[in-house]
Amino acid sequence: MRVVVVGAGIIGSAIAWELRHRRIEVALIESMAEGGHTSAASAGMVNPFSLTPNDSPAVPLYWRSFQMYPAWIEQLRERTGIDPEWRANGTLRVALSPADRETLHATYEWVRRYDPSVQLIDGNEARRLEPALHPEIGEALYLPNEGWVHTPRLMRALHRALQQEGVSIYAAAPALSIEVQGIRAYGVRTASGLVQGDAVVVAAGAWSGALLQPLGIHAPTEPVRGQLLLLTDLPLPVSRILSTPVGYVVPRANGTILVGATRERVGYDLRATAEGYAHLTRTLSQIAPTLMRATLVGHAVGLRPDTPDHNPYIGKVGGYEGLYAAAGHAYHGILLAPATACAIADLLLGGETNLPIAPFDPNRFAR
Ligand SMILES: Cc1cc2nc3c(=O)[nH]c(=O)nc-3n(C[C@H](O)[C@H](O)[C@H](O)COP(=O)(O)OP(=O)(O)OC[C@H]3O[C@@H](n4cnc5c(N)ncnc54)[C@H](O)[C@@H]3O)c2cc1C
Repeated sequence: MRVVVVGAGIIGSAIAWELRHRRIEVALIESMAEGGHTSAASAGMVNPFSLTPNDSPAVPLYWRSFQMYPAWIEQLRERTGIDPEWRANGTLRVALSPADRETLHATYEWVRRYDPSVQLIDGNEARRLEPALHPEIGEALYLPNEGWVHTPRLMRALHRALQQEGVSIYAAAPALSIEVQGIRAYGVRTASGLVQGDAVVVAAGAWSGALLQPLGIHAPTEPVRGQLLLLTDLPLPVSRILSTPVGYVVPRANGTILVGATRERVGYDLRATAEGYAHLTRTLSQIAPTLMRATLVGHAVGLRPDTPDHNPYIGKVGGYEGLYAAAGHAYHGILLAPATACAIADLLLGGETNLPIAPFDPNRFAR
């Protein structure tokens, strides 16, 4: 069997790697010289609960993917010699207003069903753990097991693993169309010709909806721009994720932090803007004002692949044989990469998976 995967972001790369483990031949097609700009620009939080205000049918897959993370990263590190810096130091999700406090209490009730180690702590205890937190923060939800990865390193490791595993990589070769005969997908057309396979997986991030649309498939994806600041020389160290409804701070192993992120519907516009900078510095001043004295060393931008319900498409595309979607991972693509890869490989090889992907049916918006 030969599978053609479109898109070398974290999702397409993770799928290609998983398929090679299962001894499947893979061709990976990528528009850019090196794929996954958004994946590498991401904050890298592996946080099954922190971005979800309510329990939802999507959470079981977040949780399963989170549980897969340590072994997935370790395998990647061992195979490639590149350390993606997985750190499970935890998250402090802090309340900035009385309404936030209510949300924290409600979140605590459902999160502890998954992870009994979650705790509600007062502001003093939160500042004992993270002295940089704003002096007026009164309460926090402490999720001691959540973590993060260094996404540029993670992408480098994945791409190196794919080269080592003998994946045929077609770089700087945008997929122009998915080729079908009758109802069977048999390849992908690029400017240099047809790349044939027994199945096609569309993992082209925010561009996926447009690739599927000419086949009459309505699985829309829309870019949501996210900007992040990178700071160093911190007056106080940060060792956990500090998360709020307005933004977050994510530490890295070398003592720098990321401050994120904007959520902007501005199309495929990858510019870092003064407005984005202003938003992020305001966010930082609300979370940890002393860190405003740190040195600014970077301003990253990515395009999240959003969908109408903010949930990804993971599964077989209805009406066709051999056509699969793994796209639209919006705010959770880093977290969801291992579970998405495993689910797609299960479906390709056995027609089913025991991973909880029912809420992510690519056909749910079909007209
Ligand atoms: C600022 C920011 C912070 C984030 N923080 C987090 C976080 O903390 N945790 C988390 O889980 N998620 C986070 N995300 C979301 C996460 O980054 C995305 O969900 C994830 O990167 C999506 O991965 P992807 O592989 O689907 O898309 P991408 O990384 O965009 O990869 C898609 C690839 O497909 C290629 N492509 C497109 N069209 C074609 C074509 N026609 N032919 C060939 N190739 C094509 C593109 O060039 C690209 O390389 C964040 C995102 C941003 C922007």
